[in-house]
Amino acid sequence: MKIATLQLAPQLGDVQGNIERADRLLKSSKMTTPDMLVLPEMALTGYNFPSLEAVKPYLEPAGDGPSASWARETAKRLQCKVCVGYPEIEKDPQNPDQITYYNSLLVVDEKGEVIHNYRKSFLYYTDETWAAEGQVERGFKEIPIQEQQIATSFGICMDINPYKFEAPFDKWEFATRVLDSKSQLVILSMAWLTLLSREELDALKDKPEMDTFNYWLQRFWPLLQTKMKHELDIDGKTVSPKKIVIVFANRAGEEPPADETKSPARYAGTSTIIAVTQKPTAEAESDTGSSDDAELPFDVKILCWDLLGAGEEGVCFADTTADPKMVFGLKKSG
Ligand code: GLN
Repeated sequence: MKIATLQLAPQLGDVQGNIERADRLLKSSKMTTPDMLVLPEMALTGYNFPSLEAVKPYLEPAGDGPSASWARETAKRLQCKVCVGYPEIEKDPQNPDQITYYNSLLVVDEKGEVIHNYRKSFLYYTDETWAAEGQVERGFKEIPIQEQQIATSFGICMDINPYKFEAPFDKWEFATRVLDSKSQLVILSMAWLTLLSREELDALKDKPEMDTFNYWLQRFWPLLQTKMKHELDIDGKTVSPKKIVIVFANRAGEEPPADETKSPARYAGTSTIIAVTQKPTAEAESDTGSSDDAELPFDVKILCWDLLGAGEEGVCFADTTADPKMVFGLKKSG
């Protein structure tokens, strides 16, 4: 499967400018047509809105507004699925006074038709000022790609963190759902922040922010430990090692602070497309029950096809049937 993400630095509230920016970046990239293109969280509106009042002019009903139109046109032009993050308004047709707002991800197919709308379920502080929680159950959907139904888990940024940062770190809510739903693919649309200063980010230039990359991997720890339950992988292979492909589609750039007491919102970039692969070790296959608990039951490798810089704008691309650019192993602590 060919997957692309578009890492860009949208300007808060400049929808037209951000659309032109996205089009320009896509046109200048030399990627071959992907099966799926993933954009960051609230990619065309910007993210760091301080209040409901501030985000209001940019809200759109699912499938009907500037972000949806852009996704439809782009999907038809590139002949691929397009996922785009946007701020959603939902009016209850029975009761027009009943209005709900969500931080959402729209999925559009090659014909420009909406095939899924996922609403962020674990809200970040910034979302809590205006959005309602979506249902985690809507985070799973089978997506038709090249004659296959791909079992896909969708998440938006904070969804991979512990609920409200209050749940135990090792409750692994998101990763557990990925395994239980037998997902072959994970799509994450993000506006992930960094604590680095402007100067530190500038010094990184086109290098990834490895603390963020490592943290993201850590949030998928159960995929390294628990047997993957899907039969076919994303490329229709049944053979070992099993793999789950994870797409981290983050944004770059900086946005003004929500108020004067805060610092600007800076984003970590570092978009990447990886796979966690697991091959049972000899001990796990014989399952004598005597193996050391500290030992993983699988030989785990992290394949990485592409990894963008923290401040870079452009396309992150993977053909998951091709050799990855990098392979990471695990080292025992100590
Ligand atoms: N935990 C994430 C962060 O610190 C959440 C941001 C978000 O949901 N946009 O960046």
